[in-house]
Amino acid sequence: MSEIELRNVGKSYGSLPVLDNISLDMGSGEFVVLVGPSGCGKSTLLRMIAGLEDISAGEITIGGRIVNDMPAKERDLAMVFQSYALYPHMKVADNMSFALKLAGVSKSEISRRVNEAADILGLEHLLERLPRELSGGQRQRVAMGRAIVRDPRAFLFDEPLSNLDAKLRVKMRGEIKKLHQRLGKTTIYVTHDQTEAMTMADKIVVLNGGKIEQMGPPLELYKNPQNLFVASFIGSPE
Ligand code: ADP
Ligand code: MG
Repeated sequence: MSEIELRNVGKSYGSLPVLDNISLDMGSGEFVVLVGPSGCGKSTLLRMIAGLEDISAGEITIGGRIVNDMPAKERDLAMVFQSYALYPHMKVADNMSFALKLAGVSKSEISRRVNEAADILGLEHLLERLPRELSGGQRQRVAMGRAIVRDPRAFLFDEPLSNLDAKLRVKMRGEIKKLHQRLGKTTIYVTHDQTEAMTMADKIVVLNGGKIEQMGPPLELYKNPQNLFVASFIGSPE
């Protein structure tokens, strides 16, 4: 069964159509990369799945339930943004535990989950620091830690590496993939970077102008692009 399913999903902002007739199945544990040029609707699609944006047409199903009217916080998804969105006045440990405190999780369980996430992400020695005392890569790890401690059904990433330099981006790609192998969670990863898509995805979805151009495993898209857009987009270097 699909973990996340989109059926003929559309979105307009007023009279401006942004996404048209998007249908998509994400299997449990699958790493799906949404890739496409800036402005093609990637973030809008991710925000609709997360419940941060209303949908104008179609149906989104998560774990077999239609969620069109379900508030974001009931969807059990964790989103990681490019901007990290860390609380600047809170230590790393508090940034990671904040949502769990609000949710009424016990102190001992919070401490267990924060320590486990810190261990997975190599943040053990940074738990008492403030975000401004961290490097960009470390901040992005904290943002991931905050998602992991919630033990969500799925992870949604929106261009999480865009603020990092090229070398660190390559390193973090590998770390996110390792994380995925270790936790086995359904992941939707948005990027405009073809190399990221090709190296990370189980399945790539190529978006352009609010429509799906093609989807499939990286190698299939590379070998059998169905149109010129996919051929040039997937084939061209970073
Ligand atoms: P991407 O993430 O692929 O760069 P977005 O999903 O952010 O693209 O945006 C897709 C289109 O929708 C763009 O033309 C953008 O200007 C427009 N858009 C995004 N958010 C809004 C909004 N809140 N109101 C009006 N237009 C928006
Ligand atoms: Mg975007």
